[in-house]
Amino acid sequence: MKYGVIVCPKCGRARGVESSRKTTTCQCGRKIDLRRRKLQFMTDSPHELAAIVGKVNASLRGAGPMPPAKSRKKAGREPHIREEVLSIKDPLERMRSIVAELTAAKSEFDIEDIKRMSPVLGNQKPERLVARLLENGLIYEVSPGKFKVVRLQ
Ligand SMILES: [Zn+2]
Repeated sequence: MKYGVIVCPKCGRARGVESSRKTTTCQCGRKIDLRRRKLQFMTDSPHELAAIVGKVNASLRGAGPMPPAKSRKKAGREPHIREEVLSIKDPLERMRSIVAELTAAKSEFDIEDIKRMSPVLGNQKPERLVARLLENGLIYEVSPGKFKVVRLQ
């Protein structure tokens, strides 16, 4: 990956840099040591880089979502949410079906997974959804922040 994005620790603006560079100087004048910071949103495409920098800056200003981070490790199977699940009327039952899919796909899931599912979960706060599922005994915590669905017999 030739390029990445760094957020300036002084002015908080994102900028695109070549990953081979050791340092970069922000528009605000701050010199950033790239050996001590991890670049995000790695890409090989200068065009994609420009688009990502634009999106990150918009997001930092509160004007849009962060672009999805590319995870370096091989991602497990993305849970596939079936149409039937989305048509389940009872919100709790729908949530249970979705976390069951998550558990099947990844063996356990965390709040980030719930966050990604939030559009199909009615855009509720993921922390609240997890709390409700725990309260209803539909999921359990395997290790701090990691959950599994309770298998219904
Ligand atoms: Zn700066």
